[in-house]
Amino acid sequence: PYDVLIVGGGPAGAAAAVYAARKGIRTGVVAERIGGQTLDTLGIENFISVKETEGPKFAAALEAHMRAYEVDLMGGQKVDALLPAAEAGGLATVKLANGAELKSKTVILTTGARWRNVNVPGEQEYKTKGVAYCPHCDGPLFKGKKVAVIGGGNSGVEAAIDLAGVVQHVTVIEFAEQLKADAVLVNKLKSLPNVEIHTNAQTTEITGDGQKVNGLRYKDRATQAEHHLELAGVFVQIGLVPNTEFLKGVVELSRFGEIVIDAKCHTNVPGIFAAGDVTTVPYKQIIIASGEGAKAALSAFDHLIRS
Ligand code: FAD
Repeated sequence: PYDVLIVGGGPAGAAAAVYAARKGIRTGVVAERIGGQTLDTLGIENFISVKETEGPKFAAALEAHMRAYEVDLMGGQKVDALLPAAEAGGLATVKLANGAELKSKTVILTTGARWRNVNVPGEQEYKTKGVAYCPHCDGPLFKGKKVAVIGGGNSGVEAAIDLAGVVQHVTVIEFAEQLKADAVLVNKLKSLPNVEIHTNAQTTEITGDGQKVNGLRYKDRATQAEHHLELAGVFVQIGLVPNTEFLKGVVELSRFGEIVIDAKCHTNVPGIFAAGDVTTVPYKQIIIASGEGAKAALSAFDHLIRS
């Protein structure tokens, strides 16, 4: 059996693997896609000490760093189920979609999250070509340009306020009749001179010139009138979904489906730890997920030497 088995191979999983392996304990990583969300990222400019890099390059570096140690790397593998140890000091079982089972004394869950898509024409085509999901990451790319934010909940309105300070103009598109964000955020948003809000508005298409985004089409749901906005970017802010479907009833999840952890990355189940975007830790960023992964590995090690 493994001492530490890490589920997920993004920034959190990779950091956990390097930290665990450096303790000289048996470490395994099982993941669908080594690199995680960073594989889908164009430019990364906020991983401190690396002024700029590209997502796939960053993902390859994560893999190379893990391979520099004795880490059992199992890529292309989907995990279907986790069975925690039946008794204290026992082994947890991780079941793979291919039917195989892995046993480990501790498990670190780092399965990340995915942005909810609007599912309109143009969204897939122009991903990383003007369609963006992370204002902290991609906001500065649109300096001096016009963008839209789809979604008027807390994350959409926060994104719009953030972007208004960086870009020339922001249009918020909300499907419902009213913005759903907290009043204090809505008031702040409405106080900004370079923000326009369209409620009761259904995005129907993200348009482009074949290379990059050039606008957005929406339907006024009251009048059924179609409108087109000219834009350089569209931020989709309609929710981040944690990859915890297979963990329901196994570890405690928040009402958003995130794994509830404490400051040391413990879940509510002894021997099971979690880190990164899949957890309740705020701010979903690479540098944060990496730090959390390191912390989870140190906590797992701490657990091992005490049991
Ligand atoms: P993830 O990167 O999501 O990794 C999850 C891992 O778990 C993957 O290996 C996945 O295959 C695996 N997995 C999931 N479910 C299963 C399962 N059932 N079985 C097996 N394996 C599973 N952050 C920044 O700091 N800067 C940026 O510039 C930036 N740009 C971004 C651009 C885009 C387009 C996106 C989508 C995100 C961006 N982010 C950026 C956010 C950043 O990528 C995430 O915060 C970070 O990747 C989270 O790391 P993680 O390890 O927690 O999860």
